[in-house]
Amino acid sequence: MAKVVIDAGHGGKDPGAVYNGRQEKDDALDLALAVGKILSDYGVDVSYTRTSDVYNTPYEKAMMGNNADADLFVSIHRNATPNPGAINGSETLVYADRGIPAQLARNINKRLEAAGFLDRGVTERPNLVVLRRTRMPAVLVEAGFIDSGKDNQIFDQNFKEVANAIAEGILETLGEDTDSQPQQLYRVQVGAYRNSSYANQLLRQLEQDGFPAFIVFEDGYYRVQVGAFRNLDNAVSMERRLRQWGYDTYITT
Ligand SMILES: [Zn+2]
Repeated sequence: MAKVVIDAGHGGKDPGAVYNGRQEKDDALDLALAVGKILSDYGVDVSYTRTSDVYNTPYEKAMMGNNADADLFVSIHRNATPNPGAINGSETLVYADRGIPAQLARNINKRLEAAGFLDRGVTERPNLVVLRRTRMPAVLVEAGFIDSGKDNQIFDQNFKEVANAIAEGILETLGEDTDSQPQQLYRVQVGAYRNSSYANQLLRQLEQDGFPAFIVFEDGYYRVQVGAFRNLDNAVSMERRLRQWGYDTYITT
C-alpha cells in the first residue's frame, strides 16, 4: 500500500498568511483533510502532520514525514503577495525541478488549472525546510492566493475539485488508476477515537504485533484500521487473526 504524508501548512500560533480575517492555516487544514480523505478512499495509507489547529516547526513537520517512512510528502499552503489582489494562481514548490517531485508538481498543477486556477508553474525553493529536510519526494502546493478574491472564490466554490486535483495528481504519480471510481475496499477497524493519542497508542500496539495498521481521520474520529482489501474473504481472515490476538474488530467499507 502506498503511503503519503499530508502536511497542512502552519497551525496554532502561526496563522500563515492572513487576509480580511481569513487565515491560511485554516484553509490549509480543510484542504489537507479533504485530500487525505480522497486518498484513503483509493486505498492509500495517509498520515497527517496535523489534523487540528496545532503548531509545529517546519523541521518537526519534516521529521514527522521522515518517521512515517512515506512514499511522498505533500505540504498544502495558500499564497500571498505584498500587493493584495495583484497576483493570482496556483503553483507548486520543489527543492529541485527534477525527478519525482517535478513530476508530482506538474501532475498536481495541470489538474489545479482544470479546477479553475491560473497555473503559475513549478518553482524551485531549496531553502524551504519541509522540502530540504524530508527524505522522500516532497512538494509544497500553493492552492491560490489568499489575498485574491478570484482565487478565494475558486477555493470556496470549487473546493471539491481543488481537493480532487491534488489527490489525483498524487495518485497519478503513485501509478494508481484515477479513471476508475475508488474501488470498494474492506477495512478492518480496531478502534475509533476523538483523541489522537489513544489512536496512536493502539496503532503502535498493532504494529508491534506485526499488523499493517494505519489511521484514517474521518468525521472527527481517528479510526485505527488494518489493511484495505478488495476481497471480503481476506478482510474476514484478517479479522480472525486480530481476534486471536485479543483485538475487538469490525469490518467497514
Ligand atoms: Zn504557507
